[in-house]
Amino acid sequence: MVGDNVIFEVLDDAEKSGNIDTVLPRKNSLVRPAVANIDQAMIIFSIVKPEPNLSLLDRFLVMMEEQEIPCLICFNKMDLAAPPALAELCAAYESCGLSLFACSALTGTGMEAVFSALKGKSTVLAGPSGVGKSTILNQLYPAAQAATATLSKKIERGRHTTRHTEIFCLDDAAAPGKGTYILDTPGFSALFLAKTDKLMLKDCYPEFAPYLGACRFSECVHISEPDCAVKAALSQGHISYIRYDNYRRLYAELESVRKY
Ligand code: GDP
Ligand code: ZN
Repeated sequence: MVGDNVIFEVLDDAEKSGNIDTVLPRKNSLVRPAVANIDQAMIIFSIVKPEPNLSLLDRFLVMMEEQEIPCLICFNKMDLAAPPALAELCAAYESCGLSLFACSALTGTGMEAVFSALKGKSTVLAGPSGVGKSTILNQLYPAAQAATATLSKKIERGRHTTRHTEIFCLDDAAAPGKGTYILDTPGFSALFLAKTDKLMLKDCYPEFAPYLGACRFSECVHISEPDCAVKAALSQGHISYIRYDNYRRLYAELESVRKY
């Protein structure tokens, strides 16, 4: 898997060829995206052009929460966005307890903070296509552009797309296992959480956690039950409507998945 630590035998130093003898034990591994030994995931969305698909963002966050991978959210194309659009997004996601970043890969605004958050960690980058993921990667690691261009198939207009996952080390001099690694994954436009148990979905929403045990029913899923502490928090503005609405839709979707 991309991200594996291995012991290998060097066949030819100049050609950089070798045989893998042993894949060392993995700290963790994800199925989607298929990567190993990850410290965190950074999901990138643009504030505009394209407008963020928040249902997709929430699905990704649920998927990472299920796998216990800490998430960072990066909202790109700040230079194009009107301040209220960014403020609305931040308000919705601040209460999730995730680290939020707003940046413009084009002007470089906010990139320093993004870079600091990645330092010394192994971070998987994910996001739909067109949000500026390659531009961000090239800001963080200018050599990535050359590497991607030779490894990926070129498409018309001379642009390239990531069709596979690649790992880049941002600080070659770091001790093994202590470096800054970025794992770039193919863009995605849909995520189906078919394996998620609908009753466990609520546990993937960190902003519901403070109300755990405060609902009338201990099995409350915070949808149609009376005396629900989460719904009370929602009406008092402590929980974002955007997030709650996505939760309800996702729950309904999981409910309709046929069980065999
Ligand atoms: P990817 O598909 O997510 O890898 O997106 P790209 O990095 O290829 O960027 C898609 C388009 O958005 C390109 O035309 C970029 O020049 C543009 N872009 C990327 N980041 C920014 C940004 O911060 N601001 C603006 N205005 N455009 C950006
Ligand atoms: Zn409840």
